[in-house]
Amino acid sequence: MSQPALTRVLDRRRFLTLGTIAACALGSAPALAHALGAGARSLSFRHLHTGERLRATYWADGAYVGDELARIDRLLRDFRTGETMPIDRRLLELLHLLTRKMDARAPYDVISGYRSPKTNAVLAAANGGVAKKSLHLRGMAIDVRLPGRRLKDLHRAALALRGGGVGYYPAADFVHVDVGRVRSW
Ligand SMILES: [Zn+2]
Repeated sequence: MSQPALTRVLDRRRFLTLGTIAACALGSAPALAHALGAGARSLSFRHLHTGERLRATYWADGAYVGDELARIDRLLRDFRTGETMPIDRRLLELLHLLTRKMDARAPYDVISGYRSPKTNAVLAAANGGVAKKSLHLRGMAIDVRLPGRRLKDLHRAALALRGGGVGYYPAADFVHVDVGRVRSW
């Protein structure tokens, strides 16, 4: 996204409001619902390790859609062990807001969603950058990139939402986002 386009998006009043809300209240249902609006909410993913693709309308007619949430959980499973974990709905809303903010046209490329304790232990032993108590273990974190959008713009947009943690990994070409406390690295 070009700088003027990004600035335009960031300057839209509803996104500024959204950022303010997200800073204190992605977990506050009424405020978040207001920010998200009444329309259906969808997410699209392509998992880079499994090749699976999914477009899921996980919220429609004023309620979460269980089958669609289950499809998302399945796609974001620990692909090494096949284990699934219910993905935190706040993470889905954060990704949805990020999609809107980035005016995304393509599915998220997923590098890592849920990680089982076994997988995380293996990764942490091999790579000092993997946290032993990673929020990936709780279905609260995801590593993504957005085809057609610059990584640094995705990073900036994620920081602006202030919905949780944001990690920037330009060498590996992904951004980590989670719905833990607001922090960045
Ligand atoms: Zn991560």
